[in-house]
Amino acid sequence: MDITKLHPADAIVEIMNRLYRNAMTTTSGGNLSIMDEDGSLWISPSGVDKCNLTRADIMQVKPDGTIIGPHKPSSEYPFHLAIYRSRPDIRAVLHAHPPALVAFSVVRRMPDTTLIPGAAELCGKLAMAKYAVPGSETLGAYIAEEFAAGASSVMLENHGVVVGAANLFRAFMMFETLDYCARIEINIDALGTRRLPLNEKHRTLYALEAAPMMAELEAHTPAADEQAKREEICRMLARAYRNQLVTSAYGTYAARVDDGGFLITPNDRDRLYLEPDDLIYVKDGACAPGTVPSHAVRLVEKLFAAHPEFNAVMIAHAPYISAFALTDGDFDARLIPESYIMLKHAPRFPYGANFLQPDLLAQAITPKEPVCIVENDCVITAGTSILNAFDRLEVMEYSARAIVFSTMMKEKLVKIGDEDVRDIEVAFHL
Ligand SMILES: [Zn+2]
Repeated sequence: MDITKLHPADAIVEIMNRLYRNAMTTTSGGNLSIMDEDGSLWISPSGVDKCNLTRADIMQVKPDGTIIGPHKPSSEYPFHLAIYRSRPDIRAVLHAHPPALVAFSVVRRMPDTTLIPGAAELCGKLAMAKYAVPGSETLGAYIAEEFAAGASSVMLENHGVVVGAANLFRAFMMFETLDYCARIEINIDALGTRRLPLNEKHRTLYALEAAPMMAELEAHTPAADEQAKREEICRMLARAYRNQLVTSAYGTYAARVDDGGFLITPNDRDRLYLEPDDLIYVKDGACAPGTVPSHAVRLVEKLFAAHPEFNAVMIAHAPYISAFALTDGDFDARLIPESYIMLKHAPRFPYGANFLQPDLLAQAITPKEPVCIVENDCVITAGTSILNAFDRLEVMEYSARAIVFSTMMKEKLVKIGDEDVRDIEVAFHL
């Protein structure tokens, strides 16, 4: 599904459902609007259950002020109008109160988007608007002031966040990434570890590697095995999205197919609604003209060439394990023996190793050490099947979550002894 191609009312319903299902808004909170080509404002209604909106619930405000629809427009509609007046390039506005961003708004801190590659570029300039009564003209003026000064994402003191973009899906991706940065930072604060912010060199490298140069592949018709894997990857990617292992903008999945090629997620596409045909087939360093695979394509190619045991790879930036990847925090799977059996040591590599040194990384990730952490960036999990790579990522994220939770408790965490670790290694032939 391409949300940008939907009717404004359908796009609002779709994104509101997604916000609600992701626990980023409550039944009564949050509002969305779209300014369409003829100057009509489409906006979510006031006082209607956000979980059960239909197209008919979405209100239309015509350029002459006529209001069409069965409800009242959102009570926060004055600030939507103020933003559109101050920034003609903005055609969609998203406002919500997700708990992590509200936490930032009550401590008056802005999330740090420079921690994750690509996040600062996606979210644009951030600002904080002064507190005013929700729904008031004054609040509208404060918010519009920040947008007029060039901000794209504006935190509201003791309230939430507003994001403006050229379309509603883009606004959602920016909002989701901002929320995700906030959640990672909260986990980092809980761990108390030292951050490893991205520097200018890292960012330049990321931009250069975002669209890897590939040779052109001649016409290719998927065999039955490939078609089945395309469908399985899409199903598992949607599951990874719902379990908060990947976001709309981040997350790579690749799987080997029987003819020596492999499938990989495209760059810059919504991970939740990826269709089987959207996956990119790669063989001998070539893919279909006009397609842009994930920047991990070289690493995946080398990994599959080096280890015939591996049939799938996932690369993700899940919020708990990222609190280790983006800091000097030591992720020690031995704290939880069942995690250790599945993940082993999760060695760390410096930023860029995944695209600058794919050979080295492909040698380091092995059936005995199937996962690793790339500093300032991501985690990589390889597996014998599409499900096995997913399982390893899920175990890694849940283990990281358990460790973060343990640091919030009043007792100190207790490690098992070296002898206990050796017993596990013997019992499980590690
Ligand atoms: Zn609000």
